[in-house]
Amino acid sequence: MTGKVHATLDSILGQALSAIDQTADSRQLEKTRVEFLGRHGSVTAQLKSIGSLPLGDRKAFGQAVNRARDQISGALVKKGEALAARKQLSDAQKDRIDVTLPGRRGFLGGVHPITRTVRRIERIFQRAGFDVTHGPEIEDDFHNFEALNIPKDHPARAMHDTFYISPGVVLRTHTSPVQIRYLECHQPPLQIIAPGRVYRCDSDVTHTPMFHQVEGLAVDTDISFADLKGTLTFFLQEFFEQQLPVRFRPSFFPFTEPSAEVDMGCVFCDGRGCRICQQTGWLEVLGCGMVHPQVFHQVGIDNEQFTGYAFGLGIERLAMLRYGVDDLRLFFENEVAFLSQFS
Ligand SMILES: [Zn+2]
Repeated sequence: MTGKVHATLDSILGQALSAIDQTADSRQLEKTRVEFLGRHGSVTAQLKSIGSLPLGDRKAFGQAVNRARDQISGALVKKGEALAARKQLSDAQKDRIDVTLPGRRGFLGGVHPITRTVRRIERIFQRAGFDVTHGPEIEDDFHNFEALNIPKDHPARAMHDTFYISPGVVLRTHTSPVQIRYLECHQPPLQIIAPGRVYRCDSDVTHTPMFHQVEGLAVDTDISFADLKGTLTFFLQEFFEQQLPVRFRPSFFPFTEPSAEVDMGCVFCDGRGCRICQQTGWLEVLGCGMVHPQVFHQVGIDNEQFTGYAFGLGIERLAMLRYGVDDLRLFFENEVAFLSQFS
């Protein structure tokens, strides 16, 4: 009888130790514990069976069951610790930082195409001996109109859709007032360009309420229209990096006399005629002329002694032609997809 119960106990112990050994996770380990040591487990059943043994065998068998239970408990604890350690290791491996992976790339901005164009224009004129100067964007009526030979009620004022801040104070409608401000405090000879923002109350595919111009001015004792032609031809050919044909057409501006508009050969079709040049082969790019004697008079420069030329060009227009952009508004919408092409 005793031999039989001991054999059963040994068999249970063997099964328990082998089950624990094969356990792969903590949930299965808990199931194994319940199976052997739980309230209805097989080791517990052995303890309960002690009562049915002859009195003399009970103590020895009870001790044997307790030893078996302790052995199983010990194996459970050891296995539990081993599983926990393995889980910790695998979790750590899952969270491991792979230092060999390429890093996240930072987003590098670029210079805005308008700023790029301004800098390019400045560099070309600086090489030709021009200084770069700036003027205020909020102007008074005198500098924006009056001194440029555009008196009140002059029809040219209608061409400027002016933003008025208060009576007599405007957002400058062109960069030409910088000519006046510069002439007020500098004596000729002088050669300047003045890039900057200008404002007109106008908005469609080819107009924005704010845009950029560059004003140019050269004054000396013997400046002629030929100097003007030479300078602008040099500039356009440098800017577009092509030996473009350039032509001057008579025009009218109140602050220059004579005045001209400048066309250059179409950069898109080499003058053969296309949609952009409206089949003419020419693109209108800027306005210019010889400084009007009335402008010199306003700033106290002797127009018998000095002559000069002035020109104004639209920066967006040049940027559109150089980069092949067909909608002016793209420059001001700050679309990353558009801007990143220039970085
Ligand atoms: Zn063309």
